[in-house]
Amino acid sequence: MKRILAPWCILLPFAAALAAAGEPAQYALRYDAASRTMQASLCLDRAAALQRFAGDASAPGHVEGLTRSSGASLQRDGDGWSARDWRAGECLRWRADLGQIADASARRSALHATGTITDPGGWLLWAADVAAADAIVELPAGIALSAPWTPEPSAGATRRYHIERTPPDWLARIAIGRMSETTIDRPGGRLHVAIGGTPDPAQRTRLLAWLERVSDAATTAYGRLPLADVQVLVIPVGAQRDAVVFGQSTRGEGNGLTLFVDPSRDAHAFERDWIAVHELSHLFHPHLGARGAWLAEGLATYLQNVLRARSGLLTPAQAWAELADGFARGRAATPRDAAPLEQASLDMERAHGYTRVYWSGTAYWLAVDLDLRHASGGRIGIDDALRRFDACCLAPPRAWSPQAFVERLDALMDTDVFARRWREYRTLTRFPDVPALDASTDTGVRAAIMRAKGGRQSED
Ligand SMILES: [Zn+2]
Repeated sequence: MKRILAPWCILLPFAAALAAAGEPAQYALRYDAASRTMQASLCLDRAAALQRFAGDASAPGHVEGLTRSSGASLQRDGDGWSARDWRAGECLRWRADLGQIADASARRSALHATGTITDPGGWLLWAADVAAADAIVELPAGIALSAPWTPEPSAGATRRYHIERTPPDWLARIAIGRMSETTIDRPGGRLHVAIGGTPDPAQRTRLLAWLERVSDAATTAYGRLPLADVQVLVIPVGAQRDAVVFGQSTRGEGNGLTLFVDPSRDAHAFERDWIAVHELSHLFHPHLGARGAWLAEGLATYLQNVLRARSGLLTPAQAWAELADGFARGRAATPRDAAPLEQASLDMERAHGYTRVYWSGTAYWLAVDLDLRHASGGRIGIDDALRRFDACCLAPPRAWSPQAFVERLDALMDTDVFARRWREYRTLTRFPDVPALDASTDTGVRAAIMRAKGGRQSED
């Protein structure tokens, strides 16, 4: 379980300040496949009168055998532990039964087939004043690890990573098991792909071809991937109606996507998938919280259609038809006297108000894109804003309020359209008026949206 409210908002600025001062922290992790147990240690260079350790709220139920390398004692302290007179170079050691954690959270047997899947928040303890750490991970022969952490050069059975701390309520996924691993390199970044289960060679080839096309689509926003390292965990879930049945983007301890697939489906079924492009599109915006879900889901939903058209996975006409169809569903799903969009966004998970929230947000990004393009003869759109946001602000990860995000986009583009439309949309109690996209009068702008910069694709 992830906490909705966590004390990180108080903790993180403090931790960031100390990290800037150069606090080194080093994890050593050793996984035992037979017992599905992780032996962990965390060593800190700096002495402290009082050092505190914690994971997320579930961690006390998952970790055991905590000891200090000095032999000094350790006290339980709320959701964590505290250690007095912490010495420079001292290490905290513990173990975690990852198998038990994974089995408790895996409702589907398919997850077991992929490996032992856990959220590291439940077992990776952090020291209170540490904002980033390096990790050395030892794995048994034949066992792979999929993590959102940034891989560093390593040799043999030992892997090295850099881990950026994120708020404990940010979801993360770590899979350990017999997976096939590969990397997909594109300008600006690399996807670290791990495929679970036992797909045959033809299935594996098809999955990789699909992920390559999805990666190409993501680069059509502004020529490169928005983030340097992205975890891609592919989990086969047996025979399904669609090739890709569910996806999720995660931001805990790095950026990741999880994609649940039916690897037996043919290449055409994977070509029709929109989920992978949607999840990758979430990498273009920062963590915006439940209040900003309409902005986040709207952007991913808009881009899932625009980027597929630009990369040839859809024709431009198909992409416009997908958008028109989605707007119709969004309008139908918006009740009379609906709550303001921002409130619906906060209530989305509880009330299952996904369709209205996603498509109202999509209308926002289309409206802003059209505003920018009408003002620039089609030349400038939201791509340029996202590219500039990437350059200044996407890494290292931190939470942004929706208002701070749109105001930064405005500042980067020397405009007021992002915040102006945001103020208009967040209070909407009905479905937005979708800008008219008259094919006969708006041809140039329509074509520009669905064309990669420098691309040759024409409106059809
Ligand atoms: Zn989404």
